[in-house]
Amino acid sequence: MAFSLAELQRIIYDTYDRRDRSRGVEGTFVWLMEEIGELATTLRGGTQREREEEFADVLAWLATLANIVEVDLEKAVQAKYGSGCPGCKQIPCVCDRAEKP
Ligand SMILES: [Zn+2]
Repeated sequence: MAFSLAELQRIIYDTYDRRDRSRGVEGTFVWLMEEIGELATTLRGGTQREREEEFADVLAWLATLANIVEVDLEKAVQAKYGSGCPGCKQIPCVCDRAEKP
């Protein structure tokens, strides 16, 4: 079953919006960074299940932040990456390695 970024953002909104708005941008950004730290830890030594959970948390907190600042994630990602590499417009990317390692 497909699950879109728009659906994720809507579910996060419906579930947490009141709390998210009172926490604000800065507080939410700190939480996102904390989750990214936890993802880093699982990448170094976690189980695949733990990695899945941390990826889900990072995406959920990213969606939360997008909700607070009213960015449509699906629209933004599609506009930037929907046709392949934003630099060279190719799939796969053919940018010089010096530009995009
Ligand atoms: Zn490229």
